[in-house]
Amino acid sequence: MKKNLEVPIETRIGNALNQIEILDIHTHLYAPSMGKMLLWGIDELLVYHYLVAEAFRWMNIPYSKFFALSKSEQAQYIWNELFLHHSPISESCRGVITTLNMLGLDPRKRDLELIRKWYAERSLEEHVDETFALAGLKAVVMTNSPFDREETSYWEKGLQQDPRFLTALRIDPLLLDYGNTIAYLREKGYNVAEALTQEVRDELFRFLSDWADKLNPLYLMVSLPPEFSYQVETSRHKMLSKVILPFCRERGLPFAMMCGVTRAVNPQLCLAGDSVGLSSITSVENLCRNFPENRFLVTALSRENQHSLCVAARKFRNLHPFGCWWFTNIPTLMDEISTLRFELLGLSFTAQHSDARVLDQIIYKWTHFKESLILTLSEKYSALEASGWEISDEEISRDLQDILGRNFEQFCSKESSEKSS
Ligand SMILES: [Zn+2]
Repeated sequence: MKKNLEVPIETRIGNALNQIEILDIHTHLYAPSMGKMLLWGIDELLVYHYLVAEAFRWMNIPYSKFFALSKSEQAQYIWNELFLHHSPISESCRGVITTLNMLGLDPRKRDLELIRKWYAERSLEEHVDETFALAGLKAVVMTNSPFDREETSYWEKGLQQDPRFLTALRIDPLLLDYGNTIAYLREKGYNVAEALTQEVRDELFRFLSDWADKLNPLYLMVSLPPEFSYQVETSRHKMLSKVILPFCRERGLPFAMMCGVTRAVNPQLCLAGDSVGLSSITSVENLCRNFPENRFLVTALSRENQHSLCVAARKFRNLHPFGCWWFTNIPTLMDEISTLRFELLGLSFTAQHSDARVLDQIIYKWTHFKESLILTLSEKYSALEASGWEISDEEISRDLQDILGRNFEQFCSKESSEKSS
């Protein structure tokens, strides 16, 4: 075993992090071949919905007037309010600074026009390469919706696949708003109706199969409101238990549930108007128990759900917790959630996903998470060494690869151990 006792554990973890390639298992990025759908650049960074919400804490402009402005005008408002009139100490604001700085720009000049000029001369191809390299990523998983007309037009044309942009099939309207989705499905040639008869289920299966064939997704996914529960039989349960979960079983795909988002608590804020609520981890346990042949990837938006989610994962090997999602993607909670998971689950989870909407964001989201991971993991390794264990550099690298992609890959490719053959 190669010993490395002279070098502080934080440095050894940092060095290992610089050498491994991360798989970012959930983002809202799109492949460059999908044209304008892939967002990048300074104006996109500034009008990110996290920053819009923060800027409205200061801005007096009416919501509708702000959203009627052009993107660069909105960006200017946000820059003035959050970067010039006040110090940008929030996590999302600091993220912009980290990103610009790592790209070699000097944010201290506070010169938005200069930054815009730099971006105007940049090619997307070079930008994808550099952002991936700075974030240390080998690939990102997109969020692909068969219900988004803009997106489906690309897939229907036949898309050139980029191995750095992997796919996940998002089916929220099917599970959460089936009644209003019927017309769309019929328009697309699927003979579906309200009642989930065998014929309708076959048609929904055909719809999912067609998209799974087109996309080759790593998993199916949905984001769930806090009130979602799996305790009593409802129509959503029927869609889940009779269509979605059997389809996942047939295809060997995990089902990802992102639990605890309350949509549009302030509709005037548009995309920035969603909030958080406490979810039912009991329902997650019910699903894991009732469908042992399915595999569930789960993240929770509420801080208060994190402990019970870890406990649930101790009970069910078909449950894989992942990431510090959205409002939990802040240093205080990243430290807390990783530590909670290390103490209850060891290294058997996926520590983070970026949720990036703008390509450039992978730089700061991963850099800030690595800062947190160096702190939390070095504390665990130090405690372990104090207890009489010794960690090699190879083992550090192995552990990091596990929690930053390999566990997920193995979970996705796993044959169900519960299959009754
Ligand atoms: Zn997301």
